Amino acid sequence: MSIIDRLCLGERWGEVVSVLPENLSTEQDRNIEHAEINQFTLRPLTPEEYVVFTLDLCHNQVDRHFSCFPEDELDAINKKVPGRPLMERHDVRGSLPRGTFFHSALHQHGDRVSVRPKVYVLRLEENRNFIANIEGGVYRETSIGFSFSFPECSVCGQDIRRCVHVPGEKYEGRMCFYRMRGVQDVLEGSVVACGSQGTSFVSDIRSYWLEQLGEKGFYLSPQGGIEKSCVWCKE
Ligand SMILES: [Zn+2]
Repeated sequence: MSIIDRLCLGERWGEVVSVLPENLSTEQDRNIEHAEINQFTLRPLTPEEYVVFTLDLCHNQVDRHFSCFPEDELDAINKKVPGRPLMERHDVRGSLPRGTFFHSALHQHGDRVSVRPKVYVLRLEENRNFIANIEGGVYRETSIGFSFSFPECSVCGQDIRRCVHVPGEKYEGRMCFYRMRGVQDVLEGSVVACGSQGTSFVSDIRSYWLEQLGEKGFYLSPQGGIEKSCVWCKE
């Protein structure tokens, strides 16, 4: 099977937006939130049993991987987030979820549109350190794992794995990037430690996408970013 026939798997980063329960302005808002959470439980929880965090998972700006989500794809992601698990560092093999996303909305600030879900985490002893690290501002970055089908080149509109253009290069003064189209699924959202977007958080699904990009001359830098291979650029 050629790389063009496969789904692309990727991760993009966001941030913890709020850990403050008083963000909800009215008792009615809190009641609505409580009801939304209990849609995902097997018995009704009391508000004392959980904590709610608000996260930004992804957005429409061109990122450091020279990619971006079109707004209609953000809308698709937004609809798929509720019910998905909150993980730590994309460890979908070695650990169980820390929380469940129960609500998601598109958030606009200027020309930046982001997917901003809420997640609940049970106040269990085993989650005590996890919650404390988020509340204390240590775990402040987030990341979404997702699959999509069509990385569209901003220069020619073709699948960027097939065309001659290289993300990050300039063509007639305009930087090439790719739009992630055809979002198939949201796999999970993760909390990652601040400043730790490097190789220690590279997961298998990211490696899979890198493997595909590698066929266009990209490699993973020691800092964890995607960089172009100089050899490929000379060709
Ligand atoms: Zn192209």
